[in-house]
Amino acid sequence: MHEVLKRVFGYDSFRPQQEDIIRHLLAGGDALVLMPTGGGKSICYQLPAMMLPGVTVVVSPLISLMKDQVEALRANGVHAAALNSSNTEAENQMVRRECDQGVLKLLYISPERLMLELPYLMRELRISLFAIDEAHCISQWGHDFRPEYTQMGVLRELYPNIPIVALTATADKVTRQDILTQLHLEKARVFVSSFDRPNLSLDVRRGLNTKEKLRAILDFVGRHTGDCGIIYCLSKKNTETVASFLSEHGITTAIYHAGLSIEDRNRAQDDFVNDRVQVVCATIAFGMGINKSNVRFVIHYNLPKSIENFYQEIGRAGRDGMPSDTLLFYNVQDIIQLSHFAKESGQADINMERLERMREYAEADVCRRRILLNYFGEEAGHDCGNCDVCLHPPQRFDGTILVQKALSAISRTGQKITLRVTADILHGNYSPDVKSNGYDRLPTFSVGRDVPLRDWNDYILQMIQMGFLEIAYDEQNHLRITTLGADVLYGRKKATLAVISREDFVPKLVTKERKRRTPAFDFVVDIPLDPVGEEDMRLFETLRRLRMRLAQEQNLPPYIVLSDKTLHALATIKPTTVSQFGRVSGIGEFKQQKYGQIFVDAISDYLS
Ligand code: ADP
Ligand code: ZN
Repeated sequence: MHEVLKRVFGYDSFRPQQEDIIRHLLAGGDALVLMPTGGGKSICYQLPAMMLPGVTVVVSPLISLMKDQVEALRANGVHAAALNSSNTEAENQMVRRECDQGVLKLLYISPERLMLELPYLMRELRISLFAIDEAHCISQWGHDFRPEYTQMGVLRELYPNIPIVALTATADKVTRQDILTQLHLEKARVFVSSFDRPNLSLDVRRGLNTKEKLRAILDFVGRHTGDCGIIYCLSKKNTETVASFLSEHGITTAIYHAGLSIEDRNRAQDDFVNDRVQVVCATIAFGMGINKSNVRFVIHYNLPKSIENFYQEIGRAGRDGMPSDTLLFYNVQDIIQLSHFAKESGQADINMERLERMREYAEADVCRRRILLNYFGEEAGHDCGNCDVCLHPPQRFDGTILVQKALSAISRTGQKITLRVTADILHGNYSPDVKSNGYDRLPTFSVGRDVPLRDWNDYILQMIQMGFLEIAYDEQNHLRITTLGADVLYGRKKATLAVISREDFVPKLVTKERKRRTPAFDFVVDIPLDPVGEEDMRLFETLRRLRMRLAQEQNLPPYIVLSDKTLHALATIKPTTVSQFGRVSGIGEFKQQKYGQIFVDAISDYLS
């Protein structure tokens, strides 16, 4: 097993669980594998596929995912192919021939195609293993139900002696049970990995307006020169706003949303996968079909509607295990709009509850990773040190007087004002709403002129978070004073607020490790050649350009040629012989032969 891992994939050790899963499958057992995105599910069936006689059949829901996996395998010299509706008849014939000759090790297929081809497969192929990827698609409870998946229940009966492994990154218990039941995998062993993704930094920015958000995004992208990322927006219009702003500042962007034609969407995806554009501004419809391992950041321009969605979306960053950054913006408008969607959704209670949990996450002042892991039923024993709360713990002060001022202003209008108008009154801003309602004549008008307007916005948001105020969504989003709020207003209780920090959170992993890349987490495990010394970022850029050229020549995405992680390792180790090159993590025999000399020459050139 270790020999194949090194020779084919170029890795020196297994990640947690991989080895147990592979042993279990090789021994003929069924398995359900729950691992987060980027956890390394593919190797769990690809490696047995190489070791078993015959073909492993991999069921996958999307053509783009199949394509990606097949390309990645071929780039490692493995015989793999896909059978799907995008193939030409000639291609299908070739796949069949390869099957007949017994050279094919992995056959990727869509569920509907599998059903169609079963008679042929049963007759002609020696199948060694079935792998059902994205297995949550079989469950109506999952967020991605695909009716075609349910037909796969017959596999266990048709092939009683062939092991079946189902894999997914969706962990909830109902879906898990549903997968086992529907696939008749009663005897399967269930492998659950930690859902922690320590390489993803977590940051939340509260209460910024459009202009401030765009500015913050530009700074953020500016810190990621040449790195690719995704910006998720709630609306098509927002994707356009963000994309055109970034384009004006010289950043290559693409837009992706449901309103575009299939061709436009495919082009955007393709450009992104191949590093031809740096940033995709997308609605949530983007990402399911891509395996791009070098997505270096994910930004949420608006609050997502649930923690599941959020975690899945940020999970698209850093699949290669390299440090990657995430940034979430949230403000009251998001909450108002999402509440509206939730209420109209036909499942108002569930969706309001989901939104509430998402909001709690965004508003939290404890380690954000702990909240996420708790949400997914995992105990985190310690703070993560890689989220904004851990790195800038909020300072608190006695905010009783501020709260009293705000609540009294609201009370004097008969609780008929929104957050924005409240801030206007307190700061003494003669906005149209203030003037037309005569609020400038209230005794509370401008009682808080010493506090900047934007800070009032933030403090009022905090007051909502603390439960002193609530938003009446069904009454024009007016603010209501709660019982707890009344206690503070009438001096029966004190209120604590957080000091507003305008300081930019710069993820620890970026600032430290990027410059001096001493081994980080599984980096240590992956690299036999100690990546001691400093990473040379200029060499990295040189190698990145070389990789781009090689990728273009072969019409492959750059990350399939070599991962970012491998490229960083090369820029640190700086191998000058092909055999040293071959010992770097992520380089198997095939890539060593194919690229060794080219990279070694480039590195030697650079060094001299
Ligand atoms: P998933 O399907 O779970 O999202 P992948 O199978 O695509 O994840 O793996 C994510 C990344 O981790 C890939 O780049 C893969 O090559 C890498 N990887 C998997 N297993 C190992 C390992 N044992 N050592 C180092 N890298 C690994
Ligand atoms: Zn933390």
